Amino acid sequence: MFKKLLALSAVTAVLFTGCSAGNTAGAVSQKPDKLSIVCTLFPEYDWTKELLGGQDDNIELTYLLNSGLELHTYQPNAQDMITISECDMFVYIGGESESWVDDALREVSNPNMKVIRLMDIIGNSVKEEEIKEGMEAEAEEEDADSEEETEYDEHVWLSVRNAGIICKALCDTLCELQPEQADTYRANLEAYTQKLDALDKDFADMADSASVKTVVFGDRFPFRYLVDDYGIDYYAAFVGCSAETEASFETITFLAEKLDELQLDTVFTIENADNSIANAIISSTENKNQQIAVLNSMQSVNADAIAGGASYLTIMQDNLQVLKEALN
Ligand SMILES: [Zn+2]
Repeated sequence: MFKKLLALSAVTAVLFTGCSAGNTAGAVSQKPDKLSIVCTLFPEYDWTKELLGGQDDNIELTYLLNSGLELHTYQPNAQDMITISECDMFVYIGGESESWVDDALREVSNPNMKVIRLMDIIGNSVKEEEIKEGMEAEAEEEDADSEEETEYDEHVWLSVRNAGIICKALCDTLCELQPEQADTYRANLEAYTQKLDALDKDFADMADSASVKTVVFGDRFPFRYLVDDYGIDYYAAFVGCSAETEASFETITFLAEKLDELQLDTVFTIENADNSIANAIISSTENKNQQIAVLNSMQSVNADAIAGGASYLTIMQDNLQVLKEALN
């Protein structure tokens, strides 16, 4: 009975493979000769697409958060696990929101898979998670006796400079996998790096000419890599990966007083925020007339946004405009 079940599930797995390979004319048990690349987060997917340029036909490029699920709540389904286990190149962040990846990589059936972990590529530039003055303390695990583990800030993609380093590593791996396309990939990297460099310069110019150099977030704060690049200070209700949704009176008051003290006219949130905390902060200020502005941290970019032309560059350019207006 048990044996039969096993055999059945093996057949199902093979059938699944047939589906994901996109009808390979009856050769169900054969691996498709298309190169399969799987990315967890939107920027990884968008950068890979840029580097591939016109080569998409020979490549199955999968973006796991396509449905718009948020990075911190996503868990792979059975089909995702199969796609990951068979792919040729797997790209992930490697932070606390992707703890499922370790299990997924144990199931790998392709022994030659190239695995790219963004936090390894950034290496020593990975920052420890910062608990900034005024932040809501996280509800920690009960066993306070256990050695406190250092938490690292996983939101490395929000530095345009990191993006350049990561794209180079992605390009190196693509060239290893498809040496015959290496010239094309390197040319694509070159062109894309120029765009990243221009964007980096625009951010630096914005910060140079800003009349205020502090942002206040009535939200969690994944943007430390971005603001650190340009010498912008910040205050926020929660750390970047926080699951908290309620801020205490102390936190609200602290952030409201910062707005008053620095005479800031903007409270920031991240994409998909309900603005209750931002509004509570605003009503606790003296003038109660600040605006709310949104910076997109790209943790839940969905297929519709991609079809509408969203890219790492367009989203970061939007973020630049928002900052330019708020800090002027
Ligand atoms: Zn996070």
